[in-house]
Amino acid sequence: MNENFQNFIDAELNKLKEEGLYNQIRTLEGPQGAWVKINGKELLNFSSNNYLGLANHPETVKAAKKALDIYGIGPGAVRSIAGTMTLHEELEEKLAQFKRVEATLTFQSGFNANLAVIPAIVGKGDTIYSDELNHASIIDGCRLSKAEIKIFKHGDMESLEALLKEGASGRKLIVTDGVFSMDGDIAPLPEIVKLAKKYDCLTMVDDAHGEGVLGSHGRGIVDHFDLHGEVDVEIGTFSKAIGTVGGCAAGSEKLVEYLKQRARPFLFSSAVTPPDIAATIKSIEILEKDDSLVQKLWNNGDYFKEKMREAGFDVGHSQTPITPVMIGEAKTASYMSLCLFKEGVFAQSIGFPTVPRGKARIRVMISATHSREDLDFALGKFKKVGKELGII
Ligand SMILES: *Cc1c(COP(=O)(O)O)cnc(C)c1O
Repeated sequence: MNENFQNFIDAELNKLKEEGLYNQIRTLEGPQGAWVKINGKELLNFSSNNYLGLANHPETVKAAKKALDIYGIGPGAVRSIAGTMTLHEELEEKLAQFKRVEATLTFQSGFNANLAVIPAIVGKGDTIYSDELNHASIIDGCRLSKAEIKIFKHGDMESLEALLKEGASGRKLIVTDGVFSMDGDIAPLPEIVKLAKKYDCLTMVDDAHGEGVLGSHGRGIVDHFDLHGEVDVEIGTFSKAIGTVGGCAAGSEKLVEYLKQRARPFLFSSAVTPPDIAATIKSIEILEKDDSLVQKLWNNGDYFKEKMREAGFDVGHSQTPITPVMIGEAKTASYMSLCLFKEGVFAQSIGFPTVPRGKARIRVMISATHSREDLDFALGKFKKVGKELGII
């Protein structure tokens, strides 16, 4: 390797390690369950976005196996050439019904959906208004678009309106996460929609952590606020509550027709595999039939947050089952994560750049698969480690 380049990499990696920001990537030796096996040891899983247990649900697994037998593994090509199968269309229709929109389009991931949609709907000469805590994929989609980007303070409608008042030529787009995954708070979507009407803007919400969590049967943030038909573009991912992998855009038929012509990750990257699509269809069917998993998720989240508050932890201002345990220094957060790991709790610390500097935390991802005993086990360990480290 080029010597200067090697020195550059060494310096960067050392800096990350010194600051407690080096990613410890753990390897799971089995499925994504309430408990996971790491280095031969069973740990309570507080790190997965598998909110409802669908990543490892007998019915989704069965649906994927059946699709393998019928369609094989590979999609064969990009969707616009020969990669679209009846399964992809079946999922898009089912998703449109579930989300109560005219049409949807699937992508390989939620990240790709943002990279696909934002540059397709705004470009040079247009303006984007973006929440300061938006997900990296929204930020990258905005940058790729070459539109001017104006950042408003997190969830702050006065800050947004002040920017809108500055005026802009071209198309205007307001874009926000639905549920902010590091804090668990919910975007003020009704106010955003109002401002969008007042200032003639398009609206786009990325519902990655809202699907399967918010709204009736987990229909998402638009259903939660009863804003059907009021939001121009919804972005979704299948990799969280839905339990598989893939992403989608939802909106009008015209929007979807246009994206099929213009969205680059759709046109230049192959389709999601048949077993993934079949399992995703099954996940949506499970959600439509019965919302008991969603209810269980909320009950678990409410219970855990309340008990953590009682124990003296700062769990931020989450409005969803996501429970951030605020620590401050990245080094302390990563040490606490290691202590919890030794006690049998797998809860990752999160630091810069995923969250602002000085706001490092342990992010607890509650799932419907956790039992009350699991949560009590974790509470005991959090209290023990929290006391040892002087956090509570
Ligand atoms: C996780 C996430 C994504 C990325 O989704 P993938 O399907 O994993 O690529 C996009 N946007 C938001 C808001 C997310 O939380």
